[in-house]
Amino acid sequence: MTNWHLGVDLGASTYKCGLISPEWKIVARNEAPTRALDGAAQAADRIAEHVRALISQLPNDAQISCIGICSPGPLDHKTGMIVDPPNLTGWRNVPFAQMLSERVGLPVSLEHDAKAAALGEFHFGAGRGATSMALIIVGTGIGAAMLVDGKLYRGAHDAAGEVGHITVDLDGPICTCGSQGCVEAYAGGPAIVNAYNYSTRRGVESAEAIVRAANDGDEIAQRVFRRAGRALGAAIATLAMLNDIDTFVLFGSVVKAGELLLAPARDAVPHYSHKSISSRVKIVVGELGNDAGILGAAWEEK
Ligand SMILES: [Zn+2]
Repeated sequence: MTNWHLGVDLGASTYKCGLISPEWKIVARNEAPTRALDGAAQAADRIAEHVRALISQLPNDAQISCIGICSPGPLDHKTGMIVDPPNLTGWRNVPFAQMLSERVGLPVSLEHDAKAAALGEFHFGAGRGATSMALIIVGTGIGAAMLVDGKLYRGAHDAAGEVGHITVDLDGPICTCGSQGCVEAYAGGPAIVNAYNYSTRRGVESAEAIVRAANDGDEIAQRVFRRAGRALGAAIATLAMLNDIDTFVLFGSVVKAGELLLAPARDAVPHYSHKSISSRVKIVVGELGNDAGILGAAWEEK
């Protein structure tokens, strides 16, 4: 018998399932809307159906011993409990791994989506060959997952990686978390939109529109991204010094700004860190997109 894998990336708007060969290639996939408001039990029913559809495509000599699923946090990896995610409304203390396991008749492991994406990029994507890597998701919020010496770093309460709330300015703007001067208050999508609208007195609604403006030569838009990139670079410098991480893989909607964000982030790292450390820092964009979560959820750490 050959050992195959199956990963599920449960997001706020859609879930994506992938059947993975022993060579870690996704060979079949399906997806559907999460419809979180219908409740966790209904979502588990529908995901189980999609998982069974993929299992039915297994070759004769193949087996799956465990299914991996990742979802937005906070969650408890050990118990498989989704705790209280802001993006899955009403899903409070849901034993989702157990619910899915009962429906498909296989063990299920639950992982935080950022940690799963980090495992995916580390083993199969932009982090291949690194020994220590951080995956930083820059979207509405900023979060991260870190692999130190090849292992996920979880911390005492599985809550490590709140990179978005590293303070980069003691007197900076108030952040949604209640603190001030957080990276997220400069480089999160809403922060970029607010900073641009404040300076231009316009009512632009998305960071994407500001990317287009910057690419069309709008100097205020370019300045907003320079500041966001510098804040991100300062946080990366901090992580590099703290954990000796050299590979930083960026992910998320704001990263679509490309070099507008990445170039000032790269320039900021040597400015805000020890030279011997900054010279080794590499900042790259994730290679796997949605597949990172599917592959990482299915990966079982030894
Ligand atoms: Zn904050």
